[in-house]
Amino acid sequence: MPGALGVDRGGIVKRIAILGSTGSIGRSALAVVDAHADRLRVVGLAGGENADLLAQQIEKYRPQVAAMASGAALDRLRRHTPTLGVTLVGTGREGLVAVASHADADLVLCASSGTDGLEAVLAAIEHGKTVALANKEVLVMAGGIVTEAARRCGVAILPVDSEHNAIHQCLHGRERSQLKRIVLTASGGPFRGRSALELDRVTAADALQHPTWRMGRKITIDSATLMNKGLEVIEAHWLFGTRADQIDVLVHPQSVVHSMVELVDGSIIAQLGVTDMCLPIQYALSYPDRWPSPLPALDLERAGRLEFEAPDLTVFPCLALAYRALSAERSLPVVLNAANEVAVARFLDGRLRFAAIPQVIVAAMDAHHPAEVGSLAQVRAVDGWARGYAREIARGLESTKV
Ligand code: MG
Repeated sequence: MPGALGVDRGGIVKRIAILGSTGSIGRSALAVVDAHADRLRVVGLAGGENADLLAQQIEKYRPQVAAMASGAALDRLRRHTPTLGVTLVGTGREGLVAVASHADADLVLCASSGTDGLEAVLAAIEHGKTVALANKEVLVMAGGIVTEAARRCGVAILPVDSEHNAIHQCLHGRERSQLKRIVLTASGGPFRGRSALELDRVTAADALQHPTWRMGRKITIDSATLMNKGLEVIEAHWLFGTRADQIDVLVHPQSVVHSMVELVDGSIIAQLGVTDMCLPIQYALSYPDRWPSPLPALDLERAGRLEFEAPDLTVFPCLALAYRALSAERSLPVVLNAANEVAVARFLDGRLRFAAIPQVIVAAMDAHHPAEVGSLAQVRAVDGWARGYAREIARGLESTKV
């Protein structure tokens, strides 16, 4: 069926919908669209709370549909839109679902934060769209449901997270039976090399200073606790079908090697590149093709020495908690993710100490009885319980704050 530009599906122009277009990944994705305006067309945008920015994006990219996170944000957007010719399809999860399932979209980039994108990713899969996934919480919470739906519908899930994007590149064209293990690299965050005692005194402002990547606030804190790497271990399990004991983490402070795979003969294949999310986003949008990039080339002489070291699980217990959740499978990863979101939000508010983040998570995991999570309703129920429990634990830890 010809689309708006008269190009057939699968033709030269890929029509994309972006969930989370006003966030960090969304803005990088639009920079990729700018660099490849002849190959990419934006048909849907879902923003967060920043109505002014979404209005600018609508004016520039002229999508057919748009959505915002809340009614208040949508009202602000309405003041701009009488002249913009876009259909506003809603707010919250419903808005995301409407944008993700729009008839004209070939590919849906899911870069909305937190767990609100879950229903939208499933809707995109059910409508046969290719999914470029930047939101790791979707797989952590509902990896079994999402990957099973993708298999049933014959839909590809292309990872945008730089590590998984790297692994996807390393595995491209290989038989899965050749894969021995995955090695996820971690920058180590701003607190690499600190002691547990030093970490107890760090503030949100300290944690928001990431050494190599510019990202949103929640993921930057997750990088400081190494929970981001833990969530990525779970994400890798679902994307590549590897067991927990086939996924290793190496701290690599230079963030030049984005991740590696070890094959059965002992060869290690790595993907290297500049630390700019436009690179993995472009790969996901161009896949299976490759396009030239306007980014500066990686300068290995300037990068200098590349170092690798084992992560310190005593100082950064969140990574070990993620392995524990993955090994238990079932509902425990949902609890891990929910409790982490609650704890990180309270740390960002200045109410919880940095070292209390893993304490909240481990308390919720210990109190939970793992159950099957075969439906989104079950996932949401466990998520709701874990958030409530984590808030209670966090309040107790806040009152003992020194
Ligand atoms: Mg990553």
